[in-house]
Amino acid sequence: MADVLTGATNQFEFRELPSSKIVLSPECYTRLSADINLCAFSGNDELEYGTFLYGKEVKPNVIYFHTPSKHDDYEPKFREFEVNVDKNGNELKMHKEFINNIENSIYDCIAHIHTHPYIGGTCRFFSNQDLRTIQTLQKDFQPSNGRKKYFFGGLLTVGPENTHESDEISFVFYDEHNGWYKITNIYVLLDDKEIPFTEVNGRPKMKI
Ligand SMILES: [Zn+2]
Repeated sequence: MADVLTGATNQFEFRELPSSKIVLSPECYTRLSADINLCAFSGNDELEYGTFLYGKEVKPNVIYFHTPSKHDDYEPKFREFEVNVDKNGNELKMHKEFINNIENSIYDCIAHIHTHPYIGGTCRFFSNQDLRTIQTLQKDFQPSNGRKKYFFGGLLTVGPENTHESDEISFVFYDEHNGWYKITNIYVLLDDKEIPFTEVNGRPKMKI
């Protein structure tokens, strides 16, 4: 609901993060494909799905996301992806894992990913509330040992035709000094080869 009330920002107009690349493991790619398919075919086109991806910066601005959330015990909600607590107010396993992984030195990059169904208007852009969430993660969800984590926002959107070909994927990054960036250079690592996502007019599709 907040999405509709607070507007949206076209992430494709952000500057490209210099020399940036995102590489997804097969596990991460499978999870994102499942999330966008749930969003497209759940039979309720108002619900949002998502996950976290955990990874490492392998070279400056080159991020390898190797592990998706082990849990997905959230309830898909009306135009909102919220993973903190269940309907009785108990913390979800998915959220516990996320908080633990902020302290885990195996990972230095975390992506918060969610889907948008096709509802017209600005549904293929990040809502301003989505962007505020990523900013809050970057500023306030840092480990106690002071070794900075980098948070990325990921959005998967269903197209008007509701076909696999029109599903889009986009990543954004909030730099506390320089503001917002996009990363459109996205790959999947399959059999040790980096396979690029198809890009149409600067907008990566979920298709490889
Ligand atoms: Zn959203």
